[in-house]
Amino acid sequence: MIYLKTREEIELCREAAQMVSKTLGVIAGEIREGISLKHLDTRAEQFIRDNKGIPAFKGYSGFPATLCISVNEAVVHGIPNDYEIRDGDIVSVDCGVNLNGFHGDHAYTFRIGNVAPEVEKLVEVTLECLNLGVENCKANGHIGDISFAVQQHAEKNGYGVVRELVGHGLGKNLHEKPDVPNYGSRGSGKKIKNGMVLAIEPMINLGTKSVRTLPDNWTIITADKKPSAHFEHNVAVIDGKTEVLSTFDFVKAALKNSVR
Ligand code: MG
Ligand code: MG
Repeated sequence: MIYLKTREEIELCREAAQMVSKTLGVIAGEIREGISLKHLDTRAEQFIRDNKGIPAFKGYSGFPATLCISVNEAVVHGIPNDYEIRDGDIVSVDCGVNLNGFHGDHAYTFRIGNVAPEVEKLVEVTLECLNLGVENCKANGHIGDISFAVQQHAEKNGYGVVRELVGHGLGKNLHEKPDVPNYGSRGSGKKIKNGMVLAIEPMINLGTKSVRTLPDNWTIITADKKPSAHFEHNVAVIDGKTEVLSTFDFVKAALKNSVR
């Protein structure tokens, strides 16, 4: 069932989403060549707890960390380990926070140093897919309108759209109905209504759409080991209008002229 939120509940979702945005900003200030994924995870957990939040991924179905960090061919759900980031990597950082009983969940793919032009383009197009998904999230429209917009743009550029993992509703729970797939047809799926809070999160592959799970039972990688990018925002439908609850402004401010 879909839980429609009151205005007050949406404000709590916004506060949680903003804490995730700020956490990604902290990560943006630290991420660079030579830094370990574990270090980033420790900093994120520290920041969230210092601000009275709870890392929502930690312990979720047994996930062991605060962030999902997915490098290059990893699509999502990477477990932060001792890997040290290298020049040319793309690094998807996904973060979830429970603040006052409501959840935020969003993600950014960082480009480190000299990224191959075809991979640069993948990251840019994936961000465009996210923005198109958000633009097509309209009251009285359908979830499929979001899905269609994301899929069209990705496939027009020759990329693979992951099928096995999808966006979702969120609120008191990290994952709620409805599913928000990154593929589908216009007018399909649930009707978009006031009070919906959604995580829109395109996962776009340079090559095949096929993925597999590593033996750690978490990390999803592309079947052809080509890179994958991932961006995520949280949106809410209030009084017939879609508002983006999360922001990349903290990331942008932290990155300035260093990495992107
Ligand atoms: Mg999500
Ligand atoms: Mg996420």
